[in-house]
Amino acid sequence: RTRGGALSIQGLTVGYGGAPVLHGVGFDLAPGEVVALLGANGAGKTTLLRTLAGLARSTSGTVALDGQDLTTLRTEDRARRGLALVPDGQSVVAELTVDENLRLGALWRHRGAARERAIAGVYDMFEPLARRRTSAGHQLSGGERQMLALGRALVADPVLLALDEPSLGLAPLVVAHLMSTLQAAAAERGMTVLLAEQNVTSALSIADRGVVLDLGRVVADAPATALAADETLRHAYLGF
Ligand code: ATP
Repeated sequence: RTRGGALSIQGLTVGYGGAPVLHGVGFDLAPGEVVALLGANGAGKTTLLRTLAGLARSTSGTVALDGQDLTTLRTEDRARRGLALVPDGQSVVAELTVDENLRLGALWRHRGAARERAIAGVYDMFEPLARRRTSAGHQLSGGERQMLALGRALVADPVLLALDEPSLGLAPLVVAHLMSTLQAAAAERGMTVLLAEQNVTSALSIADRGVVLDLGRVVADAPATALAADETLRHAYLGF
């Protein structure tokens, strides 16, 4: 079941004033596909996700969602078209409760009964959040915070969800739970997912495909099982 969410990235070149960090990056995501974005520290994963969200500007290239060009749109207009980014780090509001954080995510998207339905849908999917509704962000464990960041993105019903290293700093069992929850959410909602991760094994375990970046260029784009089995590639770019 898919609701769109086809992403086409073509020839993206992005820099921060100096030499480019991404050099003509291009690949596609089919609706409902889960794609792992892999590569060493500094390969350009964060820069690519920020460019997709409109937080970094490309000097050339295009980004299109379901055939509509997003390249010149502002971040909020991209969000309205259904693109959501879960940034790296702990992006939940520490002073607000779990419930307030989720409301914040739904505020601009839904009103009234639709807002309540969207929030209830997230609680249904994330048991631990439902139990901690009234806890403040700063009282949550790292895993709960990451789950809240994910939940807050989901209340806006994105068609394309990009996540920047959600596993960072989490214990292996917590990572496994987060990944399976993400996979279930993607399947249930027919949502396309672009998952930037240094935790290659975890990301490939739920991904259909993997795209490997090295020094700002795509060096591999293949089914997840093929990437996991490619020893040469693993040694060269993925560090295992
Ligand atoms: P990480 O896992 O560390 O986030 P990454 O693959 O996400 O790595 P980026 O964060 O996109 O890589 O960084 C790619 C390159 O761009 C690095 O060389 C980094 O130093 C540089 N860079 C990132 N952000 C900025 C910035 N705001 N200003 C200047 N250079 C930057």
